This record gives sequence, C-alpha cells and structure tokens, in this order.
Amino acid sequence: MTKFDLAGRRVWVAGHRGMAGSAIVRRLAREDCELVTATRSELDLLRQADVEEWMKERKIDVIFLAAATVGGILANSTRPAEFLYENLVIATNIIQAARTTGVKKLLFLGSSCIFPRMAEQPMREEALLTGALEPTNEWYAIAKIAGIKLCQAYRRQYGCDFVSVMPTNLYGPGDRYDAEGGHVVAALIMKIHAAKMANNPTVELWGTGKPKREFLFSEDLADACVFVAKNYSDEMFLNVGTGHDITILELAQSIAKVVGWQGTFTFDASKPDGMPRKVLDVSRLKALSWSASTDFETGMKHAYEWYVANRA
Ligand code: GDP
Repeated sequence: MTKFDLAGRRVWVAGHRGMAGSAIVRRLAREDCELVTATRSELDLLRQADVEEWMKERKIDVIFLAAATVGGILANSTRPAEFLYENLVIATNIIQAARTTGVKKLLFLGSSCIFPRMAEQPMREEALLTGALEPTNEWYAIAKIAGIKLCQAYRRQYGCDFVSVMPTNLYGPGDRYDAEGGHVVAALIMKIHAAKMANNPTVELWGTGKPKREFLFSEDLADACVFVAKNYSDEMFLNVGTGHDITILELAQSIAKVVGWQGTFTFDASKPDGMPRKVLDVSRLKALSWSASTDFETGMKHAYEWYVANRA
C-alpha cells in the first residue's frame, strides 16, 4: 500500500470554515504538518489566476479540497445555477492550480449524491454513471462527478497524486444550521430545539418521512480523509460512510431523544422526498482497515451541544 507522509508538509484545507473542512482542520492538529487556510476575503476560489498565484506563494504541498457551495434538498433544487457553476469552478481552479504549482497530494471531497437515483443499495463505487441522477440534486452531483473525473484525468495525463472520497450525508459541529437551506439533520436539530423551547407539541417533517439515509459524524469523515491521504493512491474514489441507514422519521425520533423533546411529527407532502434510499457500500475503505467509530447518539449529542453553544 502507498504511504504518503504528512510530516513537515504544508497542508491547505480549502473550505476550512465548513463542517467537513473544520473537522479536517481539527483532525490535522494531531499530525506533524503545517496547516494553511485562507478566508473568503483573502482568496476568492472562483478566480483561477488568484487561486494559482496564492498557491504558488504559499508553496502548498497537500490539499484537502473540502470547499463547496452546499445545501439541503430545497436549496439544491431552487439554486441550480449556483450549485453547478460554483462547484465546477472551485474544483477546476484548485485541481488545475495543484498541477501547475506542483502539489504532491490532493484529496477531493465529493458526495454520495453522485450515484444514480435507482442505484442498487448499498451503493458500490462502480455504480457511478450507470443511470440517471436524482433530479433534486443533479446540479451538485454533476459538479462533483466532474471533480472525480478531473482527479482521474490528472492522474492519467500528468501523473498527479490526486484522489477522491465520497462522503455520505454528514452531521456535526459547524453544519449549516439553516432551517430552509440546510440538510435534514441541522434543520431537524433547529426545529426540534425550537419546539422544546416553545413547548410546541408538533414538528413538521418535509416529505413522507420514509426515505432512508445514512449519517456520518463529521469527525469520522475527517479521520477517514487523513487516513486516505496517507494510505491511498489510486484512480477509483472511495466511499466514506457507516454502511447503515435509517428512515427520516427514525432520524427525527433519535434527534428528539437527544434534544429531550417529547412530541409528534407531522408531514409536509408539498416538499420533496428526494432519493428513496441512499446508503453506501463501504467495503473498499474497510478493506484498507478504516471504519467509522462514533455511534449515532454520541455524534448527535456533540452536534446538538455545538448548536446550542454556537447558534447565536
Ligand atoms: P438529500 O439527502 O440530498 O435528500 O438532502 P437533505 O438532507 O436535505 O434531505 C434528506 C431527506 O430529509 C429528504 O427526504 C427530505 O425531504 C427530508 N426532510 C425532512 N424534513 C426536512 C427538513 O426540515 N429539512 C431538510 N433539508 N430535509 C428534510
């Protein structure tokens, strides 16, 4: 197995303010590397020349490409141009500049929404591009598929050590706590906490509550990213998840337990369900000896505590 040493390297976490990026920053604190970050006002990732110049100046050795325009099912379907354009440009700018500035290792973060809507479950890496995408998130998915393909193409044509991981639905500190634009876990933590504070007996879920999703704690994802950067160098991307899924209603009930709210859920049928089921086959990563270690309740408690402490 390839071993890539992070010791003594200058490591840039692109997207360090987001949930995935901030978890990677926390995880990298345990590695003997020099961490580099750039705020949005220091560096606009949508400007190719700026990205290349900044990377050349900073002499970046390694990149964790966690920068992305992200959002839940509604944001994805109502802001298609932003999701497609911004994610395509961020990936192309950083990957191209990584080649021209001689970056030694790049890890691109995709998403489990790259797989076809009707992919066989659990979804194996080989299911990519075997069928039509889920319409509610195809804009984001197409940009993320382009990112995977860029890494593969740069490996083939230029011999760059660029690899990709596909995380499943994430939750944790630093999530986008936005009831309309965020993902389901953040939205439900907000709604259920608000119901508890207001002594409200009901909370409304979007759709039917029946779709099934897999949820990975952000700190587990970060650990997987560092593991993959150090131990993996191949064209095929790697799924990162737990391999277990639950229904949205079960998710809501588990969050209610952590928040300490006893009420009932109603359903808003005017909102989309999205993919009927989305769970990753994680056997490739498992075979390399990595698996997720945080149980759902422990992870959710951390996420909820973070929300309560930081929501202002
Ligand atoms: P997806 O995994 O790409 O579909 O993204 P989301 O995390 O946004 O949604 C997952 C599932 O949770 C979908 O079936 C949603 O309809 C459902 N859901 C239920 N209530 C909510 C909510 O308040 N916000 C969001 N974002 N999704 C919700």
